[in-house]
Amino acid sequence: MNEHKKTFYRNQAESIIKKLALRRMEGYYCESSDEARAKILELIGTAPASVAYGGSMTIDEMGVKDDIVKAGHNLIIRENASTPEEHKELNAAAINADTFLMSTNAITLDGELINVDGRGNRVCYLIYGPSQVIVVAGMNKVVSNVSEGIDRVKNFASPPNTVRLQRDTPCARFGRCGNCLENTICCQTVITRVSMIPGRIKVILVGEELGY
Ligand code: SF4
Repeated sequence: MNEHKKTFYRNQAESIIKKLALRRMEGYYCESSDEARAKILELIGTAPASVAYGGSMTIDEMGVKDDIVKAGHNLIIRENASTPEEHKELNAAAINADTFLMSTNAITLDGELINVDGRGNRVCYLIYGPSQVIVVAGMNKVVSNVSEGIDRVKNFASPPNTVRLQRDTPCARFGRCGNCLENTICCQTVITRVSMIPGRIKVILVGEELGY
């Protein structure tokens, strides 16, 4: 990435971080994924902690889950559930986790988080439960406002996701949203305006393109 874009990302992130503070969310800027991985571990802390995470290409691409395990934390892997009982147990562990790690589908210049979910088993932990939520977002997720953010999710983030999930939806077939009701992955739209608990939500902006 050239120096001009790096400076632009840093300046834009600093502006967003000021807006996040007004919304009682802590913001951080890291120039690279490696820096962000270190920041995630710092925020989780050195004492053994339970860490759950939401499905996210950003988190997968960063490879931070291995770092968390190596640091001695208890990573709650909900995909490991093989029975309905285990599923319930792991969901209960996630809602009581010390940290929930996720990305966001979009973040506005004013610091609002926009997330569109299917079952809601990602946005539920953002809203309530885990002691802290660490949100990691590449600067490609920044949008001007909420309506642009929803448009970004529906027309740019969901289509590759539905292709990946092999869902028969208009966005998978035509590369743009058709506001489907069958097979949809867009059931819940959550706009996070403010963190009710000061500092519970921490946002790490990364000066790279990450995720969809
Ligand atoms: S509403 Fe349907 S078509 Fe639109 S983005 Fe969501 S899954 Fe794709």
